[in-house]
Amino acid sequence: MSFELTILGSSAALPTAKRFPTAHLLHAGERFFLIDCGEGTQIRLRQYGINPSRIHHILISHLHGDHVFGLFGLLSTLGMMGRKVPLKLYGPKALEGFLSYYSKFFGPLPFELEFVISSENEDFVFENDNLSIRAIPLKHRTPAYGYLFREKKKLLNVRKEQIEAFGLGLEDLVKVKRGEDFVSKSGAIIPNSQLTLPPFHQRSYAYLSDTQFDPSLAAKVKGVDLLFHEATFSEKDKKLAAQTQHSTAAEAATLAKLAGVKKLLIGHFSSRYKEPLLLENEAKEVFDNTTGVNDGDIYSIPLERLSGE
Ligand SMILES: [Zn+2]
Ligand SMILES: [Zn+2]
Repeated sequence: MSFELTILGSSAALPTAKRFPTAHLLHAGERFFLIDCGEGTQIRLRQYGINPSRIHHILISHLHGDHVFGLFGLLSTLGMMGRKVPLKLYGPKALEGFLSYYSKFFGPLPFELEFVISSENEDFVFENDNLSIRAIPLKHRTPAYGYLFREKKKLLNVRKEQIEAFGLGLEDLVKVKRGEDFVSKSGAIIPNSQLTLPPFHQRSYAYLSDTQFDPSLAAKVKGVDLLFHEATFSEKDKKLAAQTQHSTAAEAATLAKLAGVKKLLIGHFSSRYKEPLLLENEAKEVFDNTTGVNDGDIYSIPLERLSGE
């Protein structure tokens, strides 16, 4: 089971030769989730060998051009590729109005667009047996949302030798897989941990872009495996960050530290910095396990069992 993030675009508003505006792709289980769709997203998908027709969910953080200008091109391509299955779009209310211009000017698409509106209630915008996605309101110049992807608890694997040893029947197995202890015919209680392999760790990824520094976000992304936090500006441009409701690299790292995340990724770099390593270094002074992302980077979280048997 894959849980893998590909960076398709790592720049802020202005693209550069090496960095396209923001877009991420999360491959979780069998599904591909496109997160934001800056200009050039479909070109990056092709470059990185990802067939765009495999995407069924597109999550948009907010209606600033560097996060949505790639949508029209991508929708057009999907139409030309003969897509028939619906495409789900998640984002602020204005997203539906924005996309209505597509059909107005370029004709109807041969597939349906289904909208899920992200709201201030921090709702789950997606949920199935394996994964949930929660929308997290951000503080930016227009309604904006981050997204938290978290795997669901999986059923436990029962140790084969214990099935025989304790004579577990089908009904017992269902209960034990859910985490219950087993009570034998003689009334002895066999603890669940003795019957099952350790559970799998629930992998998680949080995407927070664009936002001013907001320490209250820490509780919402507490302990995630991977946090992406925008880091548009350097510390010396802190005033500019505040004026535009963006974050500095050190602020992104402070949030990571407060939340106790395992790893921090920073990006959405302003093109004014010719060497974004400067931003990575500023962040590392606050939170060491930080990486400044580049287009084409892949971050994979392995499926591991929790230790502590
Ligand atoms: Zn942006
Ligand atoms: Zn923005």
